[in-house]
Amino acid sequence: MINIHTPINNIPGIGEFYSKKLAKLGIFTIEEILLHTPHRYEDFSKISNISDLESGKSYTVKAQIKGLQNKKIFKKNMVLTEGTISDKTGSIGVTWFNQSYLINSISEKDIFFLSGKVGIRSKKLSLTNPSFERVSSDPTHTGGMIPVYPETRGLSSKWLRFVIKNILEKTKGNIPDILPKKILREYLLLSREESLRKIHFPISIKEIKNSKKRLSFEQIFLIQIAILGEKIRISREKAVSIPINIKSIKKFTSLLEFKLTDAQKKSSWRILKDMERDYPMNRLLEGDVGSGKTIVATMAIANTAKAGFQSAFMAPTEVLAKQHFKEIFKVLKNFNMNIGLLTGKEDKYYSKKLKSDFIEISRKKLLEKTLDGEIDLLIGTHALIQDKVKFKNLALVILDEQHRFGVKQRSKMITQKREDMKKIPHLLSMTATPIPRTLAMSIYGDLDLSLIDELPKGRKKIITKMIMPNDRKKAYSVIREEVKKNRQAFVICPKIEPSTEIDKISKWSTAKAVKEEHKILSDEIFPEFSVGLIHGKMAIKEKERAMKNFRNGKTDILVSTSVVEVGIDVPNATVIMIEGADRFGLAQLHQLRGRVGRDKNRSYCFLVPESFSEKTKKRIKAIVNCNNGFKLAERDLELRGPGDFIGSRQWGIPDIAMGAFSDMKLVESARDAARTILEESISLNKYPLLKSKIAEIRKKMHLE
Ligand code: ADP
Ligand code: MG
Repeated sequence: MINIHTPINNIPGIGEFYSKKLAKLGIFTIEEILLHTPHRYEDFSKISNISDLESGKSYTVKAQIKGLQNKKIFKKNMVLTEGTISDKTGSIGVTWFNQSYLINSISEKDIFFLSGKVGIRSKKLSLTNPSFERVSSDPTHTGGMIPVYPETRGLSSKWLRFVIKNILEKTKGNIPDILPKKILREYLLLSREESLRKIHFPISIKEIKNSKKRLSFEQIFLIQIAILGEKIRISREKAVSIPINIKSIKKFTSLLEFKLTDAQKKSSWRILKDMERDYPMNRLLEGDVGSGKTIVATMAIANTAKAGFQSAFMAPTEVLAKQHFKEIFKVLKNFNMNIGLLTGKEDKYYSKKLKSDFIEISRKKLLEKTLDGEIDLLIGTHALIQDKVKFKNLALVILDEQHRFGVKQRSKMITQKREDMKKIPHLLSMTATPIPRTLAMSIYGDLDLSLIDELPKGRKKIITKMIMPNDRKKAYSVIREEVKKNRQAFVICPKIEPSTEIDKISKWSTAKAVKEEHKILSDEIFPEFSVGLIHGKMAIKEKERAMKNFRNGKTDILVSTSVVEVGIDVPNATVIMIEGADRFGLAQLHQLRGRVGRDKNRSYCFLVPESFSEKTKKRIKAIVNCNNGFKLAERDLELRGPGDFIGSRQWGIPDIAMGAFSDMKLVESARDAARTILEESISLNKYPLLKSKIAEIRKKMHLE
C-alpha cells in the first residue's frame, strides 16, 4: 500500500530514469508529485458538430483523421501535414505545421478529440494546428478536461497524466486531511484527497476552481501556522526594555548634517517604542534605495548604547559592512561609544578614547571586547553569526538587506548570541527590495512593518534611458561631461572574465566582462580620465583600495560587477551605465540605479541590453518609466509571478498556491483560520497530522 510519503521511485514504472527527472523538479514523494498540478487544461468537454464550424472560431470536435500527407514548402522551409477530419455530420480539412512525425502516430481507425481554430486553406475550411487526444486508448480521460502540465525536462504531459492517474487509484481512501475538520467546514473546503483528485482530473471548471481554492488555502494556512506559531513563541520570550532617552535623541538629530524626513522620524519613533517593551521587537523597515534607512537604525543603536546595552549590525557584503562602519562611527563620534568591525578577513576598532580615527585590532581582542561588553556596537558580515562571536548583553540586532540572509542565520543571530540566553535581542530588519504588501502579509503574517516612503528633500528624479549597443557613444559623452564637472560614474558589467569557450556555447558569449571593459574604457574611450576596477574576486585589500579611490575622487569612473549593487553610497556619482541590462532582474536594476542620485545633482542611468525579447523590453520599459521601488516591485510581481519573490523553494510552496498570494481574501481567511487553531492549541497536539506537516515545513525553512 502506498501513502503520500512513499518515495516516488517505489512506484512500479518509475525507474531511475524518471526519478532523476522528477528530482530536478523537486519531486521525491507521492505527495510532491500530486502537488505538481496542471498549469492548464484542454477542454474537450464541449464537442461541436463539424457541420456547425465557422472560420475564425475555436472548437473541439470528436472525429476521425484521414488521408494525412506531408508537403514540403521549400520557400518557407516548412512541412505541412494535411488531411481531412470527419464525424457523422460532415468533414473539413486539418493542417499542422512542421510536425511531419504526426503522420506515423495517427491511425485512421481511431477517434480523436481535436481542439483548435478553424481557418481557410485552399478555399476550404480547415482546423489549424489543433491539439488532439485519442479518445479510446488513453484511459486517463473520457472527454472531459485534460490536464496539461508544464512540460519540463522531458516529462511529457501524457506521461505525467498516466502516472498520476495510477497513483490516485492506488492511494484511494488513503490521503488523510491535514486541515482540521472544523476549518474545512467553516471555509467550505474540499477534502485533501478530493481536491487532489479533481485538480488533476476535473470534469468542470468549477471543480478546478474549488480544488485550487482548497490547495491554495492549505499552503497559505500552513505558512501562517508556521509563522504565527513562531511569532507567538517569540512574543512570549523576554527582551530587555530599552528606555527612550529623549535628550540623547535630540542631541543625535541636532548633530546630523541634514533634517530627517517625516517618514524617517515616524519609523525611528516606532522602533524606539517597540524597544521600550519587554518582549522582542521584530520589525521590518522597508525603504526605497537611498531613502536613508541607515540613519534610522543608527538612532536606535545610539539609544541602546545610552541604556548600557550592545547592538550588532549585520550587512551582506564586506564592502557594505565597511562603509557602514565608517559612516556610523562618524555619526556616533560624540556619543561616547566603542565600535568594532568584524568581517571575514579583517577587524577594526574605533574607540571613544581615540576620538579621531579607528585602529586595526586582532580578532581575538575584538571578540574579547565584545564578550566583556566593552564594544557597544559590532558591525560585520555573516562572520557575526559564528559561534565564537558572543556578546555580554546584546539587546539589538540589525540586519541590513535582510533578504540576503537565510531564516536560519536570522534566528541564530537572535537566539544564540547572548551569554545568559535568558533574554533575546530586539530585531530590526531592513530592505530596499520591497515585497509588495499583499505578499508581505501572506508571507510574514503579522510582522510589524515600517515604510520610509519618501526620499530626502532635494533629490532629483534619475533620468533613465535605454541605449542601443551601437549607440554607446551617447552614454559615453554624458559620462564625459559629468566627469568634467568633477562628478563620477559607474559602468556595470555582468561578468568578471572575458568569454571562454564554454560561454560561447551558452548564451554568455556577448556579455561584457569588467576586466576587458576596464581596459577598453581606460585605454581607448576615456584615456584622459582615471578609470578604476572592482569585482568580487579581487583580494579584499584591492577591493578596498578601489572603493577608497572612488570614494575620495581619485578615480573618476569605476568599472564594476554588481558587487556595488547594494548599499554603496558615493553621493558624488551621477552616472551609472549598465551593460547587459537584460541580465539583471528588475529589483537588481533598481538597486544599481540607486547608486546614483544620492545627492542634489541631476543623475543618469543608462541601460544597455544585449537581447531584445518581449520580456526584456517589458522589463526595461518598466524601469525606464518608474523610479519608485514599491511600484516596480508590484510590476515585477506581475511580470514574474510571486515565485521568485519569496523564493518558493525556500518555503516549498507548490506553484499552484503561488497565484493565491495575491488573493487578499483567501490570505486573510487562511490567516484567521491559522490563528483560531493556534489559539486552541499552540503545540498543535490536538492535530497530529498538521503538527508533523508543520515540523516538515520548519525543517525546510531552516535548511536553506
Ligand atoms: P538606504 O536607505 O538605501 O540604505 P542610506 O541610509 O545609505 O540609504 O542613505 C542614503 C544617503 O542619504 C546617505 O548618504 C545618507 O547620509 C543620506 N541621507 C539619509 N537621510 C537623509 C535626509 N533626511 N536628508 C538628506 N540626506 C539623507
Ligand atoms: Mg542601505
